[in-house]
Amino acid sequence: MIIAALSTKHAKATAIAEPLAQVGFSVVEVVTETDALGTFTGTVPRRHSPIATARLKAFLAAGHPGASWLLGSEGTMTNFGFSSTLDHEVIVAVQVGRPSVTVVGRGSAVLPVGLSWRLRGTASMDDLAERAAFADLGRHLLCVVRPHDGVVHSDVATLTELAAAIDELAMPGHDLIVQTDFRAHRCPSRHVALATAAEDLAHRLSTRCPSCAELGFGEDGTAGNRPCRSCAAPTGTPSHRVARCPWCDHVARELLSDDAVDSGACGWCNP
Ligand SMILES: [Zn+2]
Ligand SMILES: [Zn+2]
Repeated sequence: MIIAALSTKHAKATAIAEPLAQVGFSVVEVVTETDALGTFTGTVPRRHSPIATARLKAFLAAGHPGASWLLGSEGTMTNFGFSSTLDHEVIVAVQVGRPSVTVVGRGSAVLPVGLSWRLRGTASMDDLAERAAFADLGRHLLCVVRPHDGVVHSDVATLTELAAAIDELAMPGHDLIVQTDFRAHRCPSRHVALATAAEDLAHRLSTRCPSCAELGFGEDGTAGNRPCRSCAAPTGTPSHRVARCPWCDHVARELLSDDAVDSGACGWCNP
């Protein structure tokens, strides 16, 4: 087995280890202090892109005995409405001694939670119950954040605990934010996207580049433009799937289809 050291503060190995084990990687969790690179509560802003952040996390696991790869991951939550959040996870792998190349696995899932509620002062139990309907309490947890000084009360599991946390943190003239706790060890539904990203990474780490034979060859978007059926102009519908090597930049294009597409997808016929 190849040892891959996963840098995490929040027990992510449960979601990541299985797909990688199937391709010969033994994931060892290395507990690191990743909060300095950004927190979901916003008390520490994330200063880099998700991939750059995950890469910095991976390097925190450097020096782990026997490890030949370092892993780091980063989730990005996009709230689109009261009770759904798009969770996009990236897991990066960096080979020890060859830090210039990053192999990236990606996965997404919609989470059935998404509470982010800014309030001032305290709130009635009815108010709390109405908001908490979007929090999936019981399976998910909440945290209460006081943004101006970064104080966080986490692990809020019930309405009574929520009321107590708001009472404790409320300060005249300052807002509080009540939000879903998205930390991986507190948010079971994040494990879906993490596992998908781990499967994508496992596929790459078991695929050799046809040109340089390094591991990490994999899908990298689409290319080409299928023609419009009525005017033959190129449309935005892609004709090829692209795979790329992160080591030598070798690109392979695989034809999806070059059939003409409906004029509804054409910028000329249907601007
Ligand atoms: Zn290559
Ligand atoms: Zn057209």
